[in-house]
Amino acid sequence: RTLFNDIDLLPPDSLFNIKQRLSQDSRPVKVDLGIGAYRDDNGKPWVLPSVREAEKVIQKDPSYNHEYLGIGGLTSLTQGAAKVLLGDDNKALKEKRVVSVQSLSGTGALHMAARFFTKFCGDKLVYLSDPTWANHNAIFETMGLKTATYPYWDPATKSLNLKGYLSAIESAPKGSIFVLHACAHNPTGLDPNQEQWASILDAIIKKDHIVLFDSAYQGFASGDLDRDAFAVRLGLEKLAEVSPIFICQSFAKNVGMYGERAGCFHIVLPRQDQSVSIENVKDAINSQLAKITRSELSNPPAYGAKIVSTVLNDEQLTEQWHKDMVTMSSRIIKMRHQLRDNLVKLHTPGNWDHIVGQTGMFSYTGLSPEMVKRLEKEHAVYLVGSGRASIAGLNSGNVEYVAKAINEVVN
Ligand code: PMP
Repeated sequence: RTLFNDIDLLPPDSLFNIKQRLSQDSRPVKVDLGIGAYRDDNGKPWVLPSVREAEKVIQKDPSYNHEYLGIGGLTSLTQGAAKVLLGDDNKALKEKRVVSVQSLSGTGALHMAARFFTKFCGDKLVYLSDPTWANHNAIFETMGLKTATYPYWDPATKSLNLKGYLSAIESAPKGSIFVLHACAHNPTGLDPNQEQWASILDAIIKKDHIVLFDSAYQGFASGDLDRDAFAVRLGLEKLAEVSPIFICQSFAKNVGMYGERAGCFHIVLPRQDQSVSIENVKDAINSQLAKITRSELSNPPAYGAKIVSTVLNDEQLTEQWHKDMVTMSSRIIKMRHQLRDNLVKLHTPGNWDHIVGQTGMFSYTGLSPEMVKRLEKEHAVYLVGSGRASIAGLNSGNVEYVAKAINEVVN
């Protein structure tokens, strides 16, 4: 009876806790800028038209059922997903250097990477950006991996601390693991430009570091899959002769599959010399990944995978999906502009241009924890203590209200 009496009470997850506080708030006007999930202009979750269509196709199929998928997941998903990420005529795909398996969305892919690292790269340090998505620390540390940080955000200039970033790459122990946000960096919404990406990747190669790209927002950030895959594809090109690349791919945001947990984990192998059979290496890796999935999930979830696979493998649905991503990204960009313009109109102290300069779901507003607290307490505007605001929570009905609230707490 005393067995569990000493268990520590952990603080609630800060992000999901926001949702709870918000649901208990009885004020008539509330604004949720917490969790990163797309909302339409009425503040409602949005089922993508391409997804609605895909669901009809799936359910009309005479072979429709709820059977188990194979351990590696749905091949039509993993292959389609690799093409989306790497590009149709990617060299690594043509040279058959890519291992792809289905994962429990992006988080599951990161966890799989972490398990793989513990087994095959156990003593390596995992470098995360400062700041990063809070779950990155939890995922790698829970697996017993040691994490370190590389400078990223310069609060004074609200821009990339490239110098600090490069010097962290330089001083990290040779062969460390660097987790890079493929696009739409969470929480800052700040991405390196193309030139900066080139110097980051060159510095990484120089020190034989290993790259893990976390791709959670491809197509969601700019509305253009190719544009948002720039860093991943540059990395593939630069590292093709040097080392494997790990990629964690989520369909939560760009297909709106949040709760369906559709994602993939890819390992792109470098070109091998003639003495090594790449097929043997791939088989061995696949067998190890299968062992991980079998013991943890048995097999990955089917329904979301079928939806995404249907979207990716039907020309018309793919076309509709591309339009859907433009719908989401352009509404978010519009909200960034309206928030900035409203703050300027109110003569809110400070410069707010970073809100429109940042990309993806979030804006790192620069609001202090005290200001965030006041926004919640006095205006029922909820965001994360770090000042990260999910721009998707803004709409034409509440953006002015939010600007006035920000203006009040800043003044
Ligand atoms: N990485 C980053 C940087 C993210 O922001 C997210 C979603 N918040 C994920 C990975 C994975 O999310 P999911 O497990 O829902 O695909």
